[in-house]
Amino acid sequence: MSETRQSPAEQRGADLFPEHFAVSKSTGIKIDWSDGERSDFSLEFLRERCPCAQCTGAHGTPPQALDFSNPLQLYRERLKITQVEPIGHYAIGIHWNDGHKTGIYSYRLLRELHEELARKHRSSALQ
Ligand SMILES: [Zn+2]
Repeated sequence: MSETRQSPAEQRGADLFPEHFAVSKSTGIKIDWSDGERSDFSLEFLRERCPCAQCTGAHGTPPQALDFSNPLQLYRERLKITQVEPIGHYAIGIHWNDGHKTGIYSYRLLRELHEELARKHRSSALQ
């Protein structure tokens, strides 16, 4: 008999993984995590956090994040997902309706985004 069960510590740590993705191409992505947590990412949030070099300016170019505070820009190019592709067992690639598709969202990154939103929700609930 082989022992393949993870210890509780491992389950809480880096081995968290999405058990289920619910993709809505016009509103966002929901994720059910292996520890029972639930993420609800809007399209704007995901695009804002696109980790690719073009969006983060990793190659010395200035970041080119979209300005979602400008309602005219938002209206003109209403953001949509055209496709979500699984990448190995560690990430998803998101294709956008403006042709952008270089962002690879690792599960680790998605979980970090989840924690960030959870913290925001907790602090806004206090007000
Ligand atoms: Zn990008």
